Amino acid sequence: MGGTFDPIHYGHLVTAEEAFVRFKLDRVIFIPSGMPPHKSERKVADGAHRFIMAQMATITNPHFDVSRIEVDEKGPTYTVDTLKKLKVGEYKDAELIFITGADAILEIFTWKNPAELFTMCRFAAATRPGYVVSEDLLKSLDKFGTGKVDFFEVPALAISSTDIRRRVKEGRPVRYLLPDEVISYISKNGLYSE
Ligand code: ATP
Ligand code: MG
Repeated sequence: MGGTFDPIHYGHLVTAEEAFVRFKLDRVIFIPSGMPPHKSERKVADGAHRFIMAQMATITNPHFDVSRIEVDEKGPTYTVDTLKKLKVGEYKDAELIFITGADAILEIFTWKNPAELFTMCRFAAATRPGYVVSEDLLKSLDKFGTGKVDFFEVPALAISSTDIRRRVKEGRPVRYLLPDEVISYISKNGLYSE
Protein backbone atom coordinates (compact mmCIF):
# COMPACT_ATOMS: atom_id res chain seq x y z
CA MET A 1 0.00 0.00 0.00
CA GLY A 2 1.62 3.18 -1.19
CA GLY A 3 0.81 6.67 -0.05
CA THR A 4 2.17 9.86 1.36
CA PHE A 5 1.03 8.83 4.84
CA ASP A 6 1.35 12.42 6.05
CA PRO A 7 0.24 11.26 8.57
CA ILE A 8 -0.96 7.64 8.52
CA HIS A 9 -4.51 7.30 9.95
CA TYR A 10 -7.25 4.77 10.69
CA GLY A 11 -8.62 5.04 7.12
CA HIS A 12 -5.34 3.55 5.85
CA LEU A 13 -5.18 0.93 8.60
CA VAL A 14 -8.77 -0.28 8.24
CA THR A 15 -8.36 -0.48 4.47
CA ALA A 16 -5.15 -2.48 4.76
CA GLU A 17 -6.65 -4.93 7.23
CA GLU A 18 -9.74 -5.40 5.09
CA ALA A 19 -7.58 -6.08 2.01
CA PHE A 20 -5.42 -8.50 4.02
CA VAL A 21 -8.41 -10.67 4.84
CA ARG A 22 -10.37 -10.19 1.66
CA PHE A 23 -7.51 -11.05 -0.73
CA LYS A 24 -5.86 -13.59 1.60
CA LEU A 25 -2.57 -11.72 1.60
CA ASP A 26 0.58 -12.88 3.37
CA ARG A 27 1.61 -9.39 4.41
CA VAL A 28 0.74 -5.77 3.85
CA ILE A 29 3.71 -3.52 3.23
CA PHE A 30 3.14 0.19 3.75
CA ILE A 31 5.41 2.20 1.48
CA PRO A 32 5.56 5.89 2.39
CA SER A 33 6.48 7.86 -0.72
CA GLY A 34 9.61 9.86 -1.34
CA MET A 35 8.95 13.39 -2.57
CA PRO A 36 5.48 12.74 -3.97
CA PRO A 37 5.16 13.88 -7.59
CA HIS A 38 1.42 14.52 -7.27
CA LYS A 39 1.68 16.69 -4.22
CA SER A 40 4.70 18.84 -4.85
CA GLU A 41 2.55 21.96 -4.46
CA ARG A 42 2.55 21.55 -0.70
CA LYS A 43 5.26 20.90 1.83
CA VAL A 44 5.26 17.25 2.83
CA ALA A 45 6.69 16.14 6.18
CA ASP A 46 10.12 14.60 6.02
CA GLY A 47 10.20 10.97 4.89
CA ALA A 48 11.89 10.05 8.15
CA HIS A 49 8.89 11.36 10.14
CA ARG A 50 6.33 9.70 7.87
CA PHE A 51 8.20 6.41 8.08
CA ILE A 52 8.37 6.47 11.89
CA MET A 53 4.68 7.35 12.20
CA ALA A 54 3.77 4.44 9.92
CA GLN A 55 5.91 2.13 12.02
CA MET A 56 4.32 3.30 15.25
CA ALA A 57 0.83 2.82 13.79
CA THR A 58 1.51 -0.72 12.56
CA ILE A 59 3.71 -2.11 15.33
CA THR A 60 0.96 -4.16 17.00
CA ASN A 61 -0.06 -5.87 13.76
CA PRO A 62 2.14 -8.90 12.99
CA HIS A 63 1.26 -8.94 9.27
CA PHE A 64 1.90 -5.24 8.63
CA ASP A 65 5.35 -3.97 7.63
CA VAL A 66 6.70 -0.59 6.61
CA SER A 67 9.27 -0.23 3.84
CA ARG A 68 11.96 2.43 3.51
CA ILE A 69 12.32 1.77 -0.21
CA GLU A 70 10.83 5.10 -1.30
CA VAL A 71 11.72 7.42 1.59
CA ASP A 72 15.39 6.55 1.09
CA GLU A 73 15.27 7.90 -2.47
CA LYS A 74 16.40 11.48 -3.01
CA GLY A 75 14.03 12.64 -5.72
CA PRO A 76 10.42 11.83 -6.60
CA THR A 77 9.41 8.18 -6.52
CA TYR A 78 7.09 6.36 -8.90
CA THR A 79 5.17 3.18 -8.15
CA VAL A 80 6.34 1.55 -11.37
CA ASP A 81 10.01 1.94 -10.33
CA THR A 82 9.35 0.78 -6.78
CA LEU A 83 7.60 -2.38 -7.98
CA LYS A 84 10.53 -3.12 -10.28
CA LYS A 85 12.87 -2.94 -7.31
CA LEU A 86 10.65 -5.15 -5.18
CA LYS A 87 10.47 -7.69 -8.00
CA VAL A 88 14.25 -8.12 -8.23
CA GLY A 89 14.75 -8.01 -4.49
CA GLU A 90 13.04 -9.42 -1.46
CA TYR A 91 9.71 -10.07 -3.22
CA LYS A 92 10.91 -11.56 -6.50
CA ASP A 93 8.68 -14.62 -6.18
CA ALA A 94 5.70 -12.80 -4.74
CA GLU A 95 2.47 -11.88 -6.44
CA LEU A 96 2.08 -8.18 -5.75
CA ILE A 97 -1.24 -6.46 -5.16
CA PHE A 98 -1.20 -2.70 -4.89
CA ILE A 99 -3.78 -1.47 -2.40
CA THR A 100 -5.20 1.96 -3.01
CA GLY A 101 -8.27 4.06 -2.43
CA ALA A 102 -10.64 4.31 -5.38
CA ASP A 103 -9.73 8.02 -5.53
CA ALA A 104 -6.19 7.04 -6.49
CA ILE A 105 -7.38 4.54 -9.11
CA LEU A 106 -9.14 7.39 -10.88
CA GLU A 107 -5.75 9.11 -11.19
CA ILE A 108 -3.83 6.07 -12.30
CA PHE A 109 -3.76 7.16 -15.92
CA THR A 110 -1.65 10.13 -14.84
CA TRP A 111 0.95 7.90 -13.16
CA LYS A 112 4.25 7.03 -14.77
CA ASN A 113 3.96 4.16 -17.33
CA PRO A 114 0.51 2.87 -16.32
CA ALA A 115 0.59 0.13 -18.96
CA GLU A 116 3.84 -1.29 -17.60
CA LEU A 117 2.58 -0.93 -14.05
CA PHE A 118 -0.40 -3.13 -14.84
CA THR A 119 1.94 -5.90 -16.04
CA MET A 120 3.67 -5.96 -12.65
CA CYS A 121 0.84 -6.04 -10.17
CA ARG A 122 -2.88 -6.18 -9.69
CA PHE A 123 -4.80 -3.51 -7.84
CA ALA A 124 -7.17 -3.63 -4.91
CA ALA A 125 -9.18 -0.43 -4.84
CA ALA A 126 -11.07 0.51 -1.67
CA THR A 127 -14.49 2.08 -2.03
CA ARG A 128 -17.01 3.26 0.47
CA PRO A 129 -20.28 1.39 0.93
CA GLY A 130 -22.68 2.59 -1.71
CA TYR A 131 -19.98 3.69 -4.14
CA VAL A 132 -20.86 2.62 -7.65
CA VAL A 133 -17.94 1.98 -9.96
CA SER A 134 -18.80 3.67 -13.23
CA GLU A 135 -18.96 1.72 -16.47
CA ASP A 136 -16.69 4.30 -18.05
CA LEU A 137 -13.99 3.70 -15.46
CA LEU A 138 -14.23 -0.06 -15.84
CA LYS A 139 -13.99 0.32 -19.58
CA SER A 140 -10.91 2.49 -19.42
CA LEU A 141 -9.25 0.15 -16.93
CA ASP A 142 -10.01 -2.78 -19.23
CA LYS A 143 -7.47 -1.60 -21.75
CA PHE A 144 -4.78 -2.69 -19.29
CA GLY A 145 -6.21 -6.22 -19.20
CA THR A 146 -9.43 -7.49 -17.70
CA GLY A 147 -9.79 -8.13 -14.00
CA LYS A 148 -6.66 -6.23 -13.05
CA VAL A 149 -8.51 -4.08 -10.53
CA ASP A 150 -10.63 -5.53 -7.76
CA PHE A 151 -12.87 -3.07 -5.98
CA PHE A 152 -13.65 -3.79 -2.34
CA GLU A 153 -15.68 -1.97 0.25
CA VAL A 154 -14.40 -0.54 3.50
CA PRO A 155 -16.57 1.17 6.12
CA ALA A 156 -17.19 4.80 5.27
CA LEU A 157 -14.26 6.50 6.89
CA ALA A 158 -14.27 10.16 6.15
CA ILE A 159 -10.74 10.45 7.45
CA SER A 160 -8.01 12.09 5.42
CA SER A 161 -4.50 13.24 6.18
CA THR A 162 -5.42 16.65 4.76
CA ASP A 163 -8.17 17.04 7.36
CA ILE A 164 -5.88 15.81 10.15
CA ARG A 165 -3.15 18.31 9.22
CA ARG A 166 -5.72 21.11 9.13
CA ARG A 167 -7.10 20.08 12.51
CA VAL A 168 -3.64 20.00 14.08
CA LYS A 169 -2.88 23.44 12.68
CA GLU A 170 -6.14 24.84 14.03
CA GLY A 171 -5.86 23.11 17.39
CA ARG A 172 -8.96 21.01 16.79
CA PRO A 173 -9.23 17.38 18.00
CA VAL A 174 -7.66 14.51 16.09
CA ARG A 175 -8.06 11.85 18.74
CA TYR A 176 -9.70 8.63 17.42
CA LEU A 177 -8.84 9.57 13.83
CA LEU A 178 -5.36 8.05 14.13
CA PRO A 179 -3.42 6.09 16.77
CA ASP A 180 -2.55 7.89 20.02
CA GLU A 181 1.16 7.18 19.55
CA VAL A 182 1.14 8.96 16.22
CA ILE A 183 -0.69 11.92 17.75
CA SER A 184 1.99 12.14 20.46
CA TYR A 185 4.71 11.95 17.83
CA ILE A 186 3.11 14.79 15.85
CA SER A 187 2.90 17.06 18.86
CA LYS A 188 6.35 16.17 20.17
CA ASN A 189 7.89 17.06 16.81
CA GLY A 190 5.70 20.07 16.12
CA LEU A 191 4.47 18.64 12.84
CA TYR A 192 1.70 20.43 10.89
CA SER A 193 1.45 23.30 13.33
CA GLU A 194 3.00 26.11 11.29
P1 ATP B 1 -4.08 13.43 1.70
O1 ATP B 1 -5.32 14.01 2.31
O2 ATP B 1 -2.82 14.15 2.07
O3 ATP B 1 -4.21 13.15 0.22
P2 ATP B 1 -4.86 10.74 2.36
O4 ATP B 1 -5.61 10.66 3.63
O5 ATP B 1 -5.63 10.68 1.08
O6 ATP B 1 -3.91 12.00 2.39
P3 ATP B 1 -2.71 9.25 1.21
O7 ATP B 1 -1.38 9.07 1.85
O8 ATP B 1 -2.86 10.22 0.10
O9 ATP B 1 -3.75 9.63 2.39
O10 ATP B 1 -3.35 7.87 0.79
C1 ATP B 1 -2.69 6.65 0.70
C2 ATP B 1 -3.69 5.65 0.14
O11 ATP B 1 -4.77 5.45 1.07
C3 ATP B 1 -4.36 6.12 -1.15
O12 ATP B 1 -4.49 5.00 -1.99
C4 ATP B 1 -5.71 6.63 -0.69
O13 ATP B 1 -6.66 6.49 -1.72
C5 ATP B 1 -6.03 5.71 0.49
N1 ATP B 1 -6.87 6.33 1.52
C6 ATP B 1 -6.72 7.55 2.07
N2 ATP B 1 -7.66 7.79 3.01
C7 ATP B 1 -8.46 6.70 3.03
C8 ATP B 1 -9.65 6.32 3.80
N3 ATP B 1 -10.17 7.14 4.71
N4 ATP B 1 -10.18 5.12 3.56
C9 ATP B 1 -9.64 4.30 2.62
N5 ATP B 1 -8.54 4.58 1.89
C10 ATP B 1 -7.95 5.76 2.08
MG1 MG C 1 -4.83 11.28 -0.79
